[in-house]
Amino acid sequence: MADKPTRQRPQCDLRSAADFILSGGIGGVPTETVYGLAADATNGEAVKKIFAAKGRPFIDPLIVHVCSFEMAESVARFSDKAKRLAEKFWPGPLTMVLPRKEIIGDIVTAGMDTVAVRMPSHPIMRRLIELSGRPIAAPSANPFGYVSPTRAEHVREQLGEKIDFVLDGGECSCGVESTIIGMVSVPPKLLRPGPICAQDLESALGEEIDKSPKKNEAHPQAPGMMKTHYSPKSRLALFDSPSEIPQSFGGQIIFFKRPDLPLKNHYWLSESGDVREAARNLFVLLRALDKISKGALFYCQRVPNIGIGIAVNDRLSRAETKLDK
Ligand code: AMP
Ligand code: MG
Repeated sequence: MADKPTRQRPQCDLRSAADFILSGGIGGVPTETVYGLAADATNGEAVKKIFAAKGRPFIDPLIVHVCSFEMAESVARFSDKAKRLAEKFWPGPLTMVLPRKEIIGDIVTAGMDTVAVRMPSHPIMRRLIELSGRPIAAPSANPFGYVSPTRAEHVREQLGEKIDFVLDGGECSCGVESTIIGMVSVPPKLLRPGPICAQDLESALGEEIDKSPKKNEAHPQAPGMMKTHYSPKSRLALFDSPSEIPQSFGGQIIFFKRPDLPLKNHYWLSESGDVREAARNLFVLLRALDKISKGALFYCQRVPNIGIGIAVNDRLSRAETKLDK
């Protein structure tokens, strides 16, 4: 079952973290989506350390985080439509792919002429960007291919040895990675579902967006968009109805909603059946059950395909064990 959010427990003060960033260091930082692994986006050597710490291939571009629209304009070119989305959804969990400016090097964008930009709302991340005065490149702070961290302790557990600092901002309020929209095509394309749903983007833009870009059309090589990603180490199978689980199954089961008469091996994403609560608890539970199951099979129920539930189901289907894996 989901724990209560952890209290804010800063381990490193913001000034020291900003000094690490300015001197080419890397560290774990809270955002409203998931914890990020931060480096000065204008310092190629620092950005390289992110790829090394995560074991992330250089073909997978990073998102650049900014704290003001002025800073956003220093890294990317904004069309009127992109400005409209920035006004409506920033600061917040929306990333826009836009034409890049020279200040951002090839290492950040995997050599592409576009850059992914976001203005986060988490006060600690915003303050870090302000104090360092630099746009900050930050992918999720997990080893490549593993589920994203939503608590500082997840970052310490998995990357603690390889990084310079961790800022603890408590539990992430969204719990899944940002929505990504590609703004360099007509119509704009939804590249990753997230906390801001396609309908909200469409009503802000006043036009339909492409919600299912064809394979190889968005960014073919980006592993964040591959079919298998975010995978736990134990085997995970998904279900819609409990009748799909064999009667003989004795392992761990994650339900969307608290069952009426839960058994010892039952867990749930939400007390009341709220997709936002399910999103907040998703990665915490996948991590916990991955450990408890010790390599064995566990089950997780899909959530209703509405709002952020679409992003939850997207991450679940990437985490599901593929038979050809
Ligand atoms: P993560 O930082 O782990 O949330 O992953 C960021 C994701 O953003 C990458 O896996 C890419 O799919 C996507 N991304 C970053 N930059 C670009 C770009 N210039 N064009 C398309 N997708 C991008
Ligand atoms: Mg990631």
